[in-house]
Amino acid sequence: MGIYHITYSKELKEVYLYFDAKCNFSCHGCITDHHPEDCHVKGPQARKSSTLSVKELISYLKTLSFKRALFMGKEPTVDTEFLPLARLLKKEFLSYNILLTNGYELVREMVIDEVCVSIKAITKVTFKDFTGRDHPERVLNNFAKYYSVSCLKLRAESVLIPGYIGQKEIAKIAKFISSIDSKIPYRIDAYMPFGEKDKFRRPSIEEMQEAKRVAEKYLENVSILHYGCKVKYGVERVY
Ligand code: SF4
Repeated sequence: MGIYHITYSKELKEVYLYFDAKCNFSCHGCITDHHPEDCHVKGPQARKSSTLSVKELISYLKTLSFKRALFMGKEPTVDTEFLPLARLLKKEFLSYNILLTNGYELVREMVIDEVCVSIKAITKVTFKDFTGRDHPERVLNNFAKYYSVSCLKLRAESVLIPGYIGQKEIAKIAKFISSIDSKIPYRIDAYMPFGEKDKFRRPSIEEMQEAKRVAEKYLENVSILHYGCKVKYGVERVY
């Protein structure tokens, strides 16, 4: 449990905190298993064996000028250090706190300013097969609950996996989000295969653009992220 990796964007004044706790999902090709560090940092990927103490973390953060803290990594909501740290950062640094989550657990604390829920799938059999968990409606219900919290900013993400979580599933997810509010921002990420042995492939840019068009039938603010996108702001490794 705790933070095993930190990166920082000077331009965006953002710090990215990677949590180590074992995730409550077991997604095929889990990005943090295969890319444990920020994929914008150059060099080989390796998860650090030790996590930081609160004292060590604070000493790193004190050297940075940041306004926003992003809680990410495996699944912050199952890490016992996540909420105490969010509270501490809010108190000591007045940070704008952003949680990246799979949505299976609900965080009710007011120390979080923004939540990005990764909606993996809506179709029951696909959700079970991909995440290893039942009840996709639990994620959807939590998403709706986040929306009902005033002053909490909400957005959503999904991963496009050709032939598996494809255009049809993206349409279902977009339709669900629009049933709550068609203005909620939605980003579709391209699946990153973990190697030649992966049974799934990376989507083409055309497939990503098609997924965007599909989602835009329901939503007003759709973006895509794929290997062809230019990185606007660099990040540096802090730990
Ligand atoms: S929810 Fe994220 S961290 Fe958890 S298994 Fe899936 S991809 Fe990995």
